[in-house]
Amino acid sequence: MSYDLEQIRQDFPILQRQVYGRPLVYLDNGATTQKPRCVVEAMTEEYYNVNANVHRGVHFLSQKATDLHEQSRETVRRFLNANSVNEIIFTRGTTESMNLVASCFSEAFMQEGDEVIISTLEHHSNIVPWQLAQNRKGIKLRVIPITDEGNICLDEYEKLFTNRTRIVSVAHVSNVLGTINPVKEMIEIAHAHGVPVLIDGAQSTPHMAVDVQQLDCDFIAFSGHKMYGPTGVGVLYGREKWLDRLPPYMGGGEMIKRVSFEQTTFNELPYKFEAGTPDYIATTGLAQAIDYVCQLGMDSIEAHERDLAQYAVSRLQQIPGMQLYGPMAYGAEGAGPLSFNVEGIHHLDMGTLLDRLGVAVRTGHHCAEPLMHRLGVDGTVRASFGLYNTRAEIDVLASSIERVCKMFA
Ligand code: PLP
Repeated sequence: MSYDLEQIRQDFPILQRQVYGRPLVYLDNGATTQKPRCVVEAMTEEYYNVNANVHRGVHFLSQKATDLHEQSRETVRRFLNANSVNEIIFTRGTTESMNLVASCFSEAFMQEGDEVIISTLEHHSNIVPWQLAQNRKGIKLRVIPITDEGNICLDEYEKLFTNRTRIVSVAHVSNVLGTINPVKEMIEIAHAHGVPVLIDGAQSTPHMAVDVQQLDCDFIAFSGHKMYGPTGVGVLYGREKWLDRLPPYMGGGEMIKRVSFEQTTFNELPYKFEAGTPDYIATTGLAQAIDYVCQLGMDSIEAHERDLAQYAVSRLQQIPGMQLYGPMAYGAEGAGPLSFNVEGIHHLDMGTLLDRLGVAVRTGHHCAEPLMHRLGVDGTVRASFGLYNTRAEIDVLASSIERVCKMFA
């Protein structure tokens, strides 16, 4: 499939709709993405013709549903270039994946006074799970500072390692500033100290090729709904040697080998971490979404979104009073979300008025309050791009911002 934007947009029925009598310009892809027809159809087809609980039945439908579910796991393995399907755990999303690692890793490998390194850029789902572990076990959070441009201070990162550092947990791409963190280098540094790394891939996996062997990461988390798949399903990749050593996260059906009142033994990977009925319809949808983006080509998607982001920076920078945040505002390449404020206009007012003009953006703290504090603002407007957005839509964003500015003038 070549990168034919017109054709691609036809695959997403919602993009044809209007809001308030205007064509929808959907620029909230960092929060969630729209779904191509093939994803919805595959899930509907499974509900209509295959539905049965997986792994449990000897009957025809259960075996078919199990086959589909396990094929989806193989699709995810291929997508991430993981060594084995044992390393692919289905979860409800990035948040659950991050909580799983924070909870199980701290339980198994951290004592009072041990440290986790995170960064100033993190989404709350990479802060609060570690704070819960802090409350339970008395571990400490050490935070990598960022520069005024919104980049991780690598020198400071290196200095944070002590003989109590047990894990590093950082975002691949910032959901606010679009910063692409140098995670390969950060992983190398951590490994040189004998420390494993968890990557929050929520904002990278939909936008660029992510190869876990090339990155050499120990864990990576992502959400299906942010990459054109359904809600309710996500992934935790974990290196087998780590997953083997972690205790289960939740107890229940599927994650056990044998249960008695005296003693219970646990199932093998990946099922040890998948208690209860998985959302097997959603895993089918996720696999379809992965096939869809892979057919387009992750490199083509990245190139397209980089072009859009750069074009957006150049258009928005011309607006008087515009304050753009993050490395892209300083000339760095990036395809990620673009945050801004316009002098004298509250981000919530800007977002609300843009909405009335048909432009969907996000406003507020973006679940990154410590980062807002670092930037010295209580919130921003965020435009985030997807594989189906166009330069014409960026023009609508820019002219709509200008209209809002005129209303406030
Ligand atoms: N991490 C980052 C960087 C995110 O942008 C998000 C969602 O916006 C999350 C984690 C949480 O993802 P989810 O709500 O799908 O679990």
